[in-house]
Amino acid sequence: MAIERTLSIIKPDATRRNLTGRINAKFEEAGLRIIAQKRIHLTLAQAQKFYEVHRERPFFGELTTFMASGPVVVQVLEGEAAITRNREVMGATNPANAAAGTIRKEFALSVGENSVHGSDAPETAAVEIAYFFSGLELVG
Ligand code: GDP
Repeated sequence: MAIERTLSIIKPDATRRNLTGRINAKFEEAGLRIIAQKRIHLTLAQAQKFYEVHRERPFFGELTTFMASGPVVVQVLEGEAAITRNREVMGATNPANAAAGTIRKEFALSVGENSVHGSDAPETAAVEIAYFFSGLELVG
């Protein structure tokens, strides 16, 4: 298994409820290292650019308005098969379908306000990490 890096976002529903530490504990318990992290408040334009691939989806407006509605914590996670591992720790998109012990099962409010984002493939991870972080900010 290769060491990978993935982009994670703790979404506004979770920062609003002061869940950053509890979510970070889930990552660390799963063997993922937080090698970069910052709290930012996205503008609507920045959220729209990040979710560009979803522009044609019916929930694009709701998703991007939500992501710009409050602070987020953007972070880079590193570890063995980090992209897949993080998706496992996150759980299914809809918390109603998420497995026990996952972040979304424990913390998500709905399919939209689902507490975390995680890259879905190596190519998207590279693009998403570069959207938020410079190489100097990744301290592995
Ligand atoms: P993910 O990779 O598990 O985050 O899921 P997707 O890539 O399919 O969707 C991206 C994000 O769009 C999800 O995490 C949700 O926040 C949001 N989303 C997906 N489906 C819906 C939906 O039916 N309604 C709303 N409001 N948001 C959705």
